[in-house]
Amino acid sequence: MLLEYKAHYGPYFFIKFLDEHFKFKKFIFSKRKGLFTMVVILNQNAGEKEIRQMKEALEKYGCSVTVMKGRNHVVLGLLGDTSGINIEQIQANDNVDRVMRVQEPYKKANRAFHPENSVIDILGNKIGGKKLGIIAGPCSVESEEQIVEIAKSVKASGASFLRGGAFKPRTSPYSFQGLRETGLDLLKLAKKETGLPIVTEIMSADMIDRFVEDVDIIQVGARNMQNFELLKELGKTNKPILLKRGLSATIEELLMSAEYIMAGGNENVILCERGIRTFETYTRNTLDLSIIPAIKKLSHLPIIIDPSHAAGISWMVEPMSKAAVAAGADGLIIEVHNDPKHALCDGQQSIEPDKFDSLMKKIKAIAEIEDREI
Ligand code: PEP
Ligand code: MN
Repeated sequence: MLLEYKAHYGPYFFIKFLDEHFKFKKFIFSKRKGLFTMVVILNQNAGEKEIRQMKEALEKYGCSVTVMKGRNHVVLGLLGDTSGINIEQIQANDNVDRVMRVQEPYKKANRAFHPENSVIDILGNKIGGKKLGIIAGPCSVESEEQIVEIAKSVKASGASFLRGGAFKPRTSPYSFQGLRETGLDLLKLAKKETGLPIVTEIMSADMIDRFVEDVDIIQVGARNMQNFELLKELGKTNKPILLKRGLSATIEELLMSAEYIMAGGNENVILCERGIRTFETYTRNTLDLSIIPAIKKLSHLPIIIDPSHAAGISWMVEPMSKAAVAAGADGLIIEVHNDPKHALCDGQQSIEPDKFDSLMKKIKAIAEIEDREI
């Protein structure tokens, strides 16, 4: 393009190039103020017939299409909902030079269409409002004594929800896999004793009926964030879903997974950052705190932080929790164990009840600065 300009405009080519370049940019980004949602740039050799065919093909998606003919390019500006458009298919057309999506591919999770924060109600306890949603408990349910004792202590320290894995996604098939359905029975028992709503992970769609019956927040673990069949099934329920970010998922991919659940009709989605894989090996994962302001800008869904899986080291849980609350997280999910040294799973990152109690006092003060409460 630069060379074309040079040939055409001679010594003035650069000024002309910049002029047209900036006009073009201005045109595309004018959508940010609500104009176009997608822009399709055709090749220079696209003739009238090809332009008409492409316009008609795009209109079939229900968008209105404006054709703009520049000196060098023909640009089609789309207005309306472009989330159903298959970009790869359009890009594969010989007459297309580039396609630019200006609107995000997620709709129901998008703050642009839902400016107010979503507040998820779980048996009267809310996540996404002024009060922080604090979920605490062991990585896995191990016994009645263990889960009931931990539930009582985290409740006394101010947690609003009890966590505990019954079905555990372990890297090794030889590691403890969780107490499975017995684990769900024990969680129910701990809920009966304390009144704390329970949060536990689902690994297979076969268990949905049981989870809908007995669980208050269904957790989708990092490893299942893109198990789209599971997400679609959860979309048919009306249970709050705690959707954890995949180990190598982008923020947009996390929001697209939320969109799967929401597209099915279940809008009760809580997002959770639990650390992502990077080149750093000192911590188990790298806690991406920048996801908090990013999600607040892009989406209306609440976002909570899991400092336990992110850091993988118990002494880092408190500083990471404080940072998360200061950055505007809607809550935390923290692994607490009464005997971390003998925990059947994730003992190295679990904090003891007294440590959880002092952490809660510290984050209470930070929450107040942020006009939040515990
Ligand atoms: C968990 O919460 O215990 C868990 C396995 O989390 P993640 O899916 O984030 O690894
Ligand atoms: Mn764990």
